[in-house]
Amino acid sequence: MEMVKVLVAAPLHERAIEVLKNAGFEIVYEEYPDETRLLELVGDVEAIVVRSKPKVTRKVIEAAPKLKVIGRAGVGLDNIDLEAAKERGIKVVNSPGASSRSVAELAVALMFSVARKIAFADRKMREGIWAKKQAMGIELEGKTIGVVGFGRIGYEVARIAHALGMKVLLYDPYPNEERAKEVGGTFASLEDLLRESDVVTLHVPLIDATYHLINEERLKLMKPTAILINAARGAVVDTGALVKALQEGWIAGAGLDVFEEEPLPKDHPLTKLDNVVLTPHIGASTVEAQMRAGVQVAEQIVEALKG
Ligand code: NAD
Repeated sequence: MEMVKVLVAAPLHERAIEVLKNAGFEIVYEEYPDETRLLELVGDVEAIVVRSKPKVTRKVIEAAPKLKVIGRAGVGLDNIDLEAAKERGIKVVNSPGASSRSVAELAVALMFSVARKIAFADRKMREGIWAKKQAMGIELEGKTIGVVGFGRIGYEVARIAHALGMKVLLYDPYPNEERAKEVGGTFASLEDLLRESDVVTLHVPLIDATYHLINEERLKLMKPTAILINAARGAVVDTGALVKALQEGWIAGAGLDVFEEEPLPKDHPLTKLDNVVLTPHIGASTVEAQMRAGVQVAEQIVEALKG
């Protein structure tokens, strides 16, 4: 009997590969093939696994008569033509919760890094400067954190913040009171949250309603001592307004993992500010998150092809 072929078109954790092999599938592995190559590869496969790349276009889907399921090891599905998949009855599976804890831990790491000026102090030491006086920080225990977007990641951040002894304020248009109780959180309006928080951390999806959610007007509501953390999507914050806020002291600092333009251009004004900590969209970049994402997708593919 001919084996079921699965095309793995992006790096996938070895445990995920094992799940697919144990199910008796033949794995065809090629890292990030371009569209021309994909068209050659998909002719006899029943499943394709991708990450944020490569693109599974309508053309690719049409060239794959046996295709039954597309797996995305990760969250966003913007590289998959969902409409074309739907028309053919092809299932699309992903792993939305796999990186929640990792992103949350990065948000907390950024919060500590800004609060204790860790990146700044590190930079100075490498220049031979013992910046003890300039690196005066603040404690987080007893401070208020405002979590904007209380979903999977927001919940994990709130849980850690609660354990640190922080007061937790939450803003979400769909408030989950039960989960809020678990993290000692109280729902507030966005405006009150911004006014009262010492740290504001963003965990909303990028949709029309959240585009530039944090704009000039809202940054001005924040305390001059407050820290803004963005590990959601760059465009949730109006970058121009944020640069002004940081330069003019409307807020004290920011920790940013995501940017309106990625990669962040080399000489961007944000790179000139000492009160900012920058990371290159590494929220989900942990061994554990990558493994979970791969295994969850592999298991769903097995179920779709065998179940
Ligand atoms: P989620 O869907 O579990 O939670 C999002 C929450 O935001 C939901 O509770 C929703 O009700 C709420 N929300 C929707 N509209 C809102 C609004 N206008 N104002 C306030 N809250 C609103 O998503 P998640 O898994 O927690 O992920 C959150 C975001 O984190 C993702 O959309 C993604 O952009 C980002 N993310 C970043 C990284 C990274 O590497 N930095 C990795 C994964 C996800």
